[in-house]
Amino acid sequence: MKRMLVIAGNWKMNKDFEEAEKFMDDLLVGLDEYGDLEEELENVQVVICPPAPFIELVGDMTEESEIYVGGQDVSKFKSGAYTGEISAQMYRSMDINYCIAGHSERRKYHNETNADIHEKMLRLKESFIAPIICVGETEEEREEGKTFDVIEKQLSEILFDIDEKNDMLLLAYEPVWAIGTGKTASPGQAQEVHAFIRNWVKENISETFAEEIHILYGGSVKPTNAEELLMKEDIDGALIGGASLDAKQFTEIIVTAAKLSKRKSNG
Ligand code: PEP
Repeated sequence: MKRMLVIAGNWKMNKDFEEAEKFMDDLLVGLDEYGDLEEELENVQVVICPPAPFIELVGDMTEESEIYVGGQDVSKFKSGAYTGEISAQMYRSMDINYCIAGHSERRKYHNETNADIHEKMLRLKESFIAPIICVGETEEEREEGKTFDVIEKQLSEILFDIDEKNDMLLLAYEPVWAIGTGKTASPGQAQEVHAFIRNWVKENISETFAEEIHILYGGSVKPTNAEELLMKEDIDGALIGGASLDAKQFTEIIVTAAKLSKRKSNG
């Protein structure tokens, strides 16, 4: 199965305008230096999710490139008196193609539930934006042997009404204990959960959907561990926090994915 690798950067609440501009300059120049990998780089879908005030800047700077811009979160409401919220329709009007929903930081600091994330997914779908839905267990849940139960509950409470013919959807397995902690799931641990997720999708949505869906890994991905994670059969890319703030590191991860993309698509 040829699934293009997706490398998505989530800047979270970092960078000011000038830093965002400098990062984008450095990234574009950095990628240009790999002209000999042009074909391989075309096999990698790069997405940058900047803070909302910099979406236009990043969008303008990537206009002539193959880099996509994504949102970090979306409102579960369509429009109205929800101060500070961003609607899916607003993103659509800015040509946004992807948006993260259900990041563990939103669950933790904003008490988001699986039901909220399901609503967010619907709003994105109505606006033809591909949701990147995050699932993952805490350290305590892993230690108690509950990883698969937690993930199954998240998947079934968020994805219960997916229409396999129409839905654009990406999933991200982000073990909470590995986010921003420097601890990474071993490639074996990550692959085990990714295979479980793909199998859940196969049994509950369809075999074709399971073959086509991108399941990204997130949790302290860096240039030093990207290759061994991305080589795994069911890992179709990465959702990157910390290392996406540094243009050199982010470029290196994209280049690693590009070099692997041929190997992966050849089986
Ligand atoms: C994330 O926030 O989605 C993430 C994976 O962060 P980090 O790469 O910093 O662990």
